Amino acid sequence: MYDRSIPFGATIKWMKKETRDTWTYALRINDREIKKSYCFQPGQFNMLSLPGIGEAAISISSHAADHDLLHTLKVAGDVTTAISKMRAGDVIGVRGPFGRGWPMEEADNKNVIIIAGGVGIAPLRSVMRHLAARHRDRSGKVMIYYGAKTPKDIVYRDEFPRYRDMFSVFLAVDKADPEEYWKGEVGLVTRLLAKTSFDPLGTTVFICGPEVMMRATISDLLIRGVPGEKIYLSMERHMNCGMGICGHCFFGPKFVCKDGPVFRYADIADFLGLREV
Ligand SMILES: Cc1cc2nc3c(=O)[nH]c(=O)nc-3n(C[C@H](O)[C@H](O)[C@H](O)COP(=O)(O)OP(=O)(O)OC[C@H]3O[C@@H](n4cnc5c(N)ncnc54)[C@H](O)[C@@H]3O)c2cc1C
Repeated sequence: MYDRSIPFGATIKWMKKETRDTWTYALRINDREIKKSYCFQPGQFNMLSLPGIGEAAISISSHAADHDLLHTLKVAGDVTTAISKMRAGDVIGVRGPFGRGWPMEEADNKNVIIIAGGVGIAPLRSVMRHLAARHRDRSGKVMIYYGAKTPKDIVYRDEFPRYRDMFSVFLAVDKADPEEYWKGEVGLVTRLLAKTSFDPLGTTVFICGPEVMMRATISDLLIRGVPGEKIYLSMERHMNCGMGICGHCFFGPKFVCKDGPVFRYADIADFLGLREV
């Protein structure tokens, strides 16, 4: 096993522009031994680094069966801006995987709702890929709700038609784009949820997006009778070490990096400022 406190090198194989400010990078781990032993769970993250610039926590978006390690990042500050200027063949530092991911045992053969906003879909892509890979053999309904600012801001836009063949997919944008015909919903992702029916007691919900969106969504889910034990969310906090040492990402008494980033809502309700109804 390699030392997860030391970055290893990974070469950019290809990259894809998802939206005006979001790219997906496919990385190949350079060291053969590390490549062999590297494995992750959907919802875990890596610390991506560039010497002299810094490190940033970025979710793993690939599926275990994918050839490449995929990361989708939105340009936010120093590290993500520097990575957005890199090209195929350049090398990025990677530490990880870190954190607790999605409880996939709660998704297999059960009704699952996936709710994402913006680049919050990045840690849920591996869940969608996982469910799609088992699609023919699994029982239980999968519903995907995704909201973006405009149609041009939809991340993984080209992948949704495939998911539509297998799952119920609902897309919403805050604002339709006058240059583009949009036949989906205009409004918040919570509006999509309000329009559809599901079994509140027999469904597990995975959510990731801006905190304000997650709070509003959880509030609606609780009102509709989904128990707090069945709602999971991925939290975001600035972090340094990623390994539960520096304390930068404290969330109440919990470390987002080590106890999360995926938490069961019922376990963090008090820190999120939302109470069960
Ligand atoms: C578990 C996890 C998974 C994530 N996954 C993804 C992902 O898949 N894709 C993605 O695009 N992003 C993801 N993020 C968010 C990403 O880590 C942040 O956007 C990160 O700050 C980007 O680093 P940067 O150096 O580019 O930006 P930074 O230089 O960190 O700046 C980003 C913004 O944060 C502000 N900021 C800087 N330091 C602090 C601080 N200490 N406290 C508060 N604000 C500060 C800056 O002013 C700026 O507005 C994830 C975060 C976590 C915790």
